[in-house]
Amino acid sequence: MSTPGIHHVTAISGPARRNLAFYTEVLGLRLVKKTVNFDDPGTYHLYFGDEAGSPGSIITFFPWAHAAPGRIGIGETQETLLRVPQESLGWWMHRLIEKGVEHDKPEKRFGETIVGFKDPDGMRLALVGIAGAAGEPAWAGSPVPVEHAIRGTYGVTLLLADAAPTARILTNVLGFQTEGTEGVITRLRAPSAAAGAVVDLRAVGGFPRGRLGRGTVHHVAFRAADDAAQAAMVKRLREEHGIAATEQKDRNYFRSVYFREPGGVLFEIATDAPGFAADEAADALGTALKLPAFLESRRSVIETTLPDLT
Ligand code: ZN
Repeated sequence: MSTPGIHHVTAISGPARRNLAFYTEVLGLRLVKKTVNFDDPGTYHLYFGDEAGSPGSIITFFPWAHAAPGRIGIGETQETLLRVPQESLGWWMHRLIEKGVEHDKPEKRFGETIVGFKDPDGMRLALVGIAGAAGEPAWAGSPVPVEHAIRGTYGVTLLLADAAPTARILTNVLGFQTEGTEGVITRLRAPSAAAGAVVDLRAVGGFPRGRLGRGTVHHVAFRAADDAAQAAMVKRLREEHGIAATEQKDRNYFRSVYFREPGGVLFEIATDAPGFAADEAADALGTALKLPAFLESRRSVIETTLPDLT
């Protein structure tokens, strides 16, 4: 059975070591894969997530030490939402202050408390307090006490001129349902998902377009159970919306197609299989530099090119 929802969010960061330290030591996520950008193997591709790197828990980065700062605008992901137990929000606000990370005043969105902040590259993140999340399993190997640990992403907020065309793709192709509207935000939800369940469409009319760079999200990936489910989504996208996805690319841990949705955001559809234990034992995820087979012959050159992470 297919579980719709977000599979992962991929963003551009500045220096790899700072990115790694923030997501593992401050936010307490697990580094579930240390690999390279398959299209630019002199650059890391770092994957953070829960213990297993479950779909919906994953945030990934292309760290470019000298990337120019990006600018948020229309047709971009404005913020990435992270799930924490509702009763842990106070603890998190203290932690952010203690780590020198400024946070916004808590706000309410669709009845839930949300606390915005930025990572060291200016990427907008927000913690959302989720009732009942304390009972969910969490990664215990980080400096964040397990009872407060992040329980995957909650979703993303997309900044759009108009919500309707993007909502049609999410509901007709990607398995989401419209949950409601609050002010300029329309919330869509993947009904059976916990992590990665929400896409908030923030419709703001005429607003400058964004510019990709450090601190901005490159794309949002949605889940397909397997190749057949992905192919069915691609077919529907083409036949009912006139949008052609790319050919399938093998990303080692999932297989992906990409397309630009009508609001301008780059979307991916990624298979749940095979997952992050495909080339590394589950208890050793993220400990070794993993390369796809076609880059193994260049390993020694790649290892000397990559920046030091320690
Ligand atoms: Zn991706």
